[in-house]
Amino acid sequence: MKTVLFSDFDGTITEQETFSLLMREFAPEASRRIVPRLLSGETTLREGVPAILETIPSERFPEMIDRMRTMSLRPGFPEFLDFLERHAIPLVVLSGSLVELVIARLAPYRTRIARVVAAHADTDAPFLRIRSETAGGDELVHKAAVMREYGEALKIAVGDSVTDLTMAREADLIFARSILAERLSKENRPHVRYETFFEISNYLESFFKRNPSLD
Ligand SMILES: [Mg+2]
Repeated sequence: MKTVLFSDFDGTITEQETFSLLMREFAPEASRRIVPRLLSGETTLREGVPAILETIPSERFPEMIDRMRTMSLRPGFPEFLDFLERHAIPLVVLSGSLVELVIARLAPYRTRIARVVAAHADTDAPFLRIRSETAGGDELVHKAAVMREYGEALKIAVGDSVTDLTMAREADLIFARSILAERLSKENRPHVRYETFFEISNYLESFFKRNPSLD
């Protein structure tokens, strides 16, 4: 059976929530105004994230990309890519952030990543303009809908927050940390906790040994 690995980016591949750090740094006023509304559910991600980002002057976007390049990745990520390659498992990165930022940080690994799905920033106007080809429901990037494109594959998901819940519901095997792990525990949904990609590689190594037909 074909296996596909879907991973969130912020707080999952990166150690920190880089997207919210950048929004607070480059759009402090809009973040102060809108982030609490996002957290309380008054505003959806689909409306709230562009509302914050579109207050950022386009000329500052290169600075954001430079800041992004300084963010650290979660330990074991390069070795995890080796593992996926050995097992011919494609990696699809599903992020509610911006493609330009995700790719800036993952540039050294770009050829080893099958696909990056996120929103886009246009910089032709004085302020950023955000668009997403995969918006759906309340989400700027409808992660579950992208996963469904892969049909009957064995779907493995890796995530860290509430924005990964729809992804987790679509997956056959879920690796979770932080808020996502807490939420899945509350829902009694089976998941594997991780803090580094070494743990995920190790778990999958023995998972495929126990289930050779899935490898
Ligand atoms: Mg995240």
